[in-house]
Amino acid sequence: MRRFLTLRLILIFAAGIVLAFGIALSARIALSAGIVPDMAFPDISFYSAPAQEAVYEPEKWNLILVNSDHCIPDNYYVELIRLENGGTEVDMRILPDLQNMFDDMRQQGLDPVVGEGYRTNREQKKMLWNKRFELLRQGYSCHEAAAMAKEWVAEPGTSEHELGLAVDINSISGEQEFDIYRWLADNAHRYGFILRYPEGKEAITGIAYEPWHYRYVGKATAEEIYDTGLTLEEYLVP
Ligand SMILES: [Zn+2]
Repeated sequence: MRRFLTLRLILIFAAGIVLAFGIALSARIALSAGIVPDMAFPDISFYSAPAQEAVYEPEKWNLILVNSDHCIPDNYYVELIRLENGGTEVDMRILPDLQNMFDDMRQQGLDPVVGEGYRTNREQKKMLWNKRFELLRQGYSCHEAAAMAKEWVAEPGTSEHELGLAVDINSISGEQEFDIYRWLADNAHRYGFILRYPEGKEAITGIAYEPWHYRYVGKATAEEIYDTGLTLEEYLVP
């Protein structure tokens, strides 16, 4: 009887050891499962497909709406022209008004330059990656960097620069940035251009305020958008 009791105690002890080992092992697995994925795997949700293709009607070529929800359609066609003073290109149809605007700015002592005009899909992709890595270097997490980069740089296929209808206007000397942005905010609509990403409209445009980014929509539309204070999103999809 006593011998039987000892055997039972040994069995219970052995079962206890197996159980404790099992708990320790599963905790170890759970711990490593929690750490490894973040460190070892890149964020696969980096590119999210836009909801729909933008509608492109050749007779309303300057009213195409391209943003994070509307990507550039396959049938989009643009004839480019290279600007004289810089290396950048734009849709040749916007050049006469762009030239007039620049002539008038220069006449008033300003030194504007088109820093960015047309951009290929590949160049857009590179810009987004660069922005993302810059944020990672600043210490943001993988997910934060991916989300923040998209606030500044549009995803490939969703940038107006890929249309050839948008220009980023800066100061050649770098000293007149503020004066140029103010002049553009007050006058660009007279030449058919709108401030595309205004301050306070980030929730609608999905893009941070960019005082340098101007989009060609034609004079009549630009005047209306200037007078009403609407974004292109609100103007086209009321
Ligand atoms: Zn821009």
